[in-house]
Amino acid sequence: MTDFAARVEQVSISGIRKVFEAAGEDAINLGLGQPDFPTPAHARRGAIEAIESGRADAYTSNKGTQQLREAIAAKYDRDYGLEIDPNDVIATAGGSEALHITLQAHVDPGEEVIFPDPGFVSYDALTHIADGTPKPVGLREDLTLDPATVEEAITDETAAFVVNSPANPTGAVQSEADMREFARIADEYDVLCISDEVYEHIVFDGEHHSPLKFAETDNVVAISACSKTYSMTGWRLGWVVASNRRIERMLRVHQYGQACASAPAQYAAEAALTGPQEPVEEMVETFEQRRDLVLDGLTDAGLEVPTPEGAFYAMPKVPEGWCEEVLDRGVVVVPGDAFGENGAGYARLSYATGTEELKAALEIIDDATRAVR
Ligand code: PLP
Repeated sequence: MTDFAARVEQVSISGIRKVFEAAGEDAINLGLGQPDFPTPAHARRGAIEAIESGRADAYTSNKGTQQLREAIAAKYDRDYGLEIDPNDVIATAGGSEALHITLQAHVDPGEEVIFPDPGFVSYDALTHIADGTPKPVGLREDLTLDPATVEEAITDETAAFVVNSPANPTGAVQSEADMREFARIADEYDVLCISDEVYEHIVFDGEHHSPLKFAETDNVVAISACSKTYSMTGWRLGWVVASNRRIERMLRVHQYGQACASAPAQYAAEAALTGPQEPVEEMVETFEQRRDLVLDGLTDAGLEVPTPEGAFYAMPKVPEGWCEEVLDRGVVVVPGDAFGENGAGYARLSYATGTEELKAALEIIDDATRAVR
């Protein structure tokens, strides 16, 4: 019988898309989850040269080219003083595939996956697709995830918990102390900590700490990507770093589902990681200026908003009807409940859009907020 699998019937298309569809053509879009910067020229050249020389024509090793995995390993040393064996890395089709193969390799049917709510939409969907049971948990007032909340949510059925810092949709950054706690919890309860670090380089205050650095067991898997750091969302290149026994299991899913990440994208990623990092610094500086602008604008409009310390999102608390009013006036924002039940009463604003457009949007938001209050 050609029926559909229950695990996909439970998944619906992201609520974010519905907002875009409702918006007029001239709307200012604060809904986007990708940087409005070009991919650095040297990364593009890495792909172009590989294509022109024919090097990108064939499958690479399933895990990705040796040079790319060495570049990824070198990055962990450079950024966190972590020694990673290039053999313990799989290059994936974006952070999305990295999350997918991690869950597929570690979650048995019915096992629970704990993740932040509001949180990135894929955690719930990919848990269903892995036949697991989603277990969303709420956040602190400042929109960070409290390790104690995760600890309380753990049961005998828990396979994994997800930590995402800097976070989508909140822009919140977890402290070093929190990350040490997440590592301790993974060690002590023998559950997997999936650390989604795709925004790791977009941090304004303080710095990113990976729980990979603090765990004493191999119970932390780190996921990252070129997508946000190098403005390469279209290239589809991410990776997962874990112990060898975990990587070998994830490779079984990756090998049959994907074979290898796109070869041209792998060469672009290698060039991005080994080349000059100034474009990243410039982008992050711009995001920080815009963060300040948005924070001031929202506060002046009378909205309560925790200071986002990373990524490129702000998540104010908003009155009833606010999102509709703002959308009617031509500014696209994403209602918080698109990111989980606890997101109700909030909205996500992305400032990955030009400064002038942002200023115009903030004026509209100011008027709209007064109108609904
Ligand atoms: N994790 C988070 C928190 C994200 O926000 C995103 C993309 O928006 C991803 C993972 C997926 O990234 P990629 O585009 O590399 O698949």
